[in-house]
Amino acid sequence: EKFRDGLSKTRDSFVGAMNDLVKDYRKVDEEFFEELEEILISADVGVNTVMDLIDDLKDEARTRNISDAKEIQPVISEKLAELLQKTDEETKLNMQENELTVILFVGVNGVGKTTTIGKLAHKFKGEGKRVVMAAGDTFRAGAIEQLEVWGERVGVDVIKQQAGSDPAAVMYDAIRSAKSKKADVLLCDTAGRLQNKVNLMNELEKVKRVLTREVPDAPHEVLLVLDATTGQNAMSQAKTFGKSTDVSGIVLTKLDGTAKGGIVLAIRHELDIPVKLVGLGEGMDDLQEFEADQYVHGLFA
Ligand code: GDP
Repeated sequence: EKFRDGLSKTRDSFVGAMNDLVKDYRKVDEEFFEELEEILISADVGVNTVMDLIDDLKDEARTRNISDAKEIQPVISEKLAELLQKTDEETKLNMQENELTVILFVGVNGVGKTTTIGKLAHKFKGEGKRVVMAAGDTFRAGAIEQLEVWGERVGVDVIKQQAGSDPAAVMYDAIRSAKSKKADVLLCDTAGRLQNKVNLMNELEKVKRVLTREVPDAPHEVLLVLDATTGQNAMSQAKTFGKSTDVSGIVLTKLDGTAKGGIVLAIRHELDIPVKLVGLGEGMDDLQEFEADQYVHGLFA
C-alpha cells in the first residue's frame, strides 16, 4: 500500500503515457520504440538504461513475434522487474546480531538525511531495538537541533557536541556511549556541505576511522541519501560520493514528490549500488525497505 501511494505521481504520468502510447500505436514498430524511449527518459530512467532496455525489448518482440502494442506492455514490466530483481538479496540492511550495528549516513544538505535517520530510529525502536543517534553534522546551523527534535519525537538519545566541533570527536563519544548502553544500533549523521568536496570527503574518512577503531567492522553500512526529485543531480552526487567513500547502499527520499520515480532503475543499472530504503513522505512511518517487485507493482498496478 505504502509503495502504491508513494509512487502515485510516477505511476500517473508513466502509466498514463504508456496507455496513450498503446492506444496511439497499435503496431510495435520503430516509431513505437522511439516514443517509449521518450516516456522512459522523462521518468528519469536514465539514457543508458533506457537504451539497453529498448534493445532488450526489441529482441524480445522479435523472438516472441509480438507486433501488437498491447502484448508488449507486460513484457515491459517484466523487463523492468528483471532489471531490479538482481538486487533483492543485496537490498537488506547489514544488521549485526546481538552486537552493535553502526550505520553512517552521507549525502548533501537537504536530501533528507536527518529525516531518514529519525524515521529509521523510529522503525528500529518499534522492533524493540536500543537506538542511539550521533549528531555528526556539526557544520550546518540547525542540524544538531533538528536531530534532537527527532530524538524527542521518537524517544531516542542523541549524542552531540557544540556546533563547529570536530565530527570525529562526536563519533568517538557516540560509539563509546552506544557500547556502554549496549545499544543495538548507532545511526550517524554527517555533514553535507559540498562547497569543499575534498574537505568533506576527508572528514568522512576520519569519522569512519574513529568508528572502525572502536568496532572493527564498523560502519556496517554507509548509506548515501539521495533526493529522487533532483534526477540527474542525484546521479552525479552518487558518483561523487561513490568515488570517495565505500557507499554500501542508497536511500532514495521523496519518491512521493516526483513523477520521475524511474530513477531507481537508473541508479541500479548505471551505478550498481543497491537502493536499500525509500522515503515515501515526511512522517515517521514513511520509510520502507526497497523491494523490487513491490516497486514494479506500484508502478503498474
Ligand atoms: P538533510 O539536510 O539532508 O538532513 O535533510 P532533511 O532531513 O532536513 O530534509 C529536508 C526536507 O525534506 C524536510 O522538509 C523533510 O521533511 C523533507 N523530506 C525528507 N524525506 C522526505 C520524503 O521521503 N518525502 C517527502 N515528501 N519529504 C521528505
